[in-house]
Amino acid sequence: MKTVLITGSAGFLGSHLCDKMLSCGFKVIGIDNLCSGNERNISHLNADKNFTFIKEDVISFDTGEKIDYILNFACPASPVAYQRDPLFTSDTCYLGARNMLEMAKRNNAVILQASTSEVYGDPDVSPQNENYCGNVNPHGIRSCYDEGKRIAESLMFDYARLFGVKIKVARIFNTYGPRMDKNDGRVVSNFIVQALQNKPITVYGRGEQTRSFCYVDDLVDGITKLLLSKDDIIGPINIGTDFEFSISWLANTVTELIKTSSEIEYKSLPSDDPQKRRPDLTLAKQTLGYMPKVSVLDGLAKTIEYFRQIV
Ligand code: UDP
Repeated sequence: MKTVLITGSAGFLGSHLCDKMLSCGFKVIGIDNLCSGNERNISHLNADKNFTFIKEDVISFDTGEKIDYILNFACPASPVAYQRDPLFTSDTCYLGARNMLEMAKRNNAVILQASTSEVYGDPDVSPQNENYCGNVNPHGIRSCYDEGKRIAESLMFDYARLFGVKIKVARIFNTYGPRMDKNDGRVVSNFIVQALQNKPITVYGRGEQTRSFCYVDDLVDGITKLLLSKDDIIGPINIGTDFEFSISWLANTVTELIKTSSEIEYKSLPSDDPQKRRPDLTLAKQTLGYMPKVSVLDGLAKTIEYFRQIV
């Protein structure tokens, strides 16, 4: 039985990946320092003999166990969470990736790095394909995360070139679904929670900025396909959906789906907030046979159902 190490295993994406890897027949070791993850996301796995959870930091974690695959997903990922302690975010991206790469090298393991659409910054091309080098502010409030993920990508490719480590780099676009943290300030969770509580829906700026939101099941499918792909498929490769909409459209849609009495309240736009974002998915479709399936209305309905249970 092969073993997958998942860092950030109690987080939104990490916990769904634990479920998926167990269902694929792997043994899973999940680590998380719980700085932004929540043990509740993996409590249903406590009785699974193939699952082990260890409260540990990705920067210092080590194990004598043979590791076959590493999914490096440990990092605060919402703007509110990663800006709370920016030095820690940078350390996690750099030192965490370095530690996991050393482990991959020792174990001859495949390592998949969770990179991000944030490496494109505030893009001046649309859609963004993997050859676009981005428009990132290197000293802004988002740069701890943007530059952190860029150096993590850089480390991956240097370890592949220098030591032949088997790497895979996924650039993950905005993702939503059950187990999002209701307090991490992301737009989908904010709007749904605000609408359920009949509180004002907080649209930043004029709401004209766009995003392309991917339902978590589609994202997990793309990550799994990449992880299990042939060794020469290394990326970077965009994973997400290419249905692009404005934040105002999202506010109106959530309002209609929940039938709330909430009004829209406009607030100032945070600095360096990207004005548009849409992945070019050609590479993922051609090399992985990736095809997202869940429509945004279905995905929002499932996510609203989840938040109804917890707020
Ligand atoms: N946003 C908003 N209201 C909120 C939270 C976010 O209008 O309550 C906007 C935010 O300014 C950004 C978009 O929604 O333009 C997506 O924000 P999120 O934090 O979810 O992700 P990211 O900025 O990392 O794409």
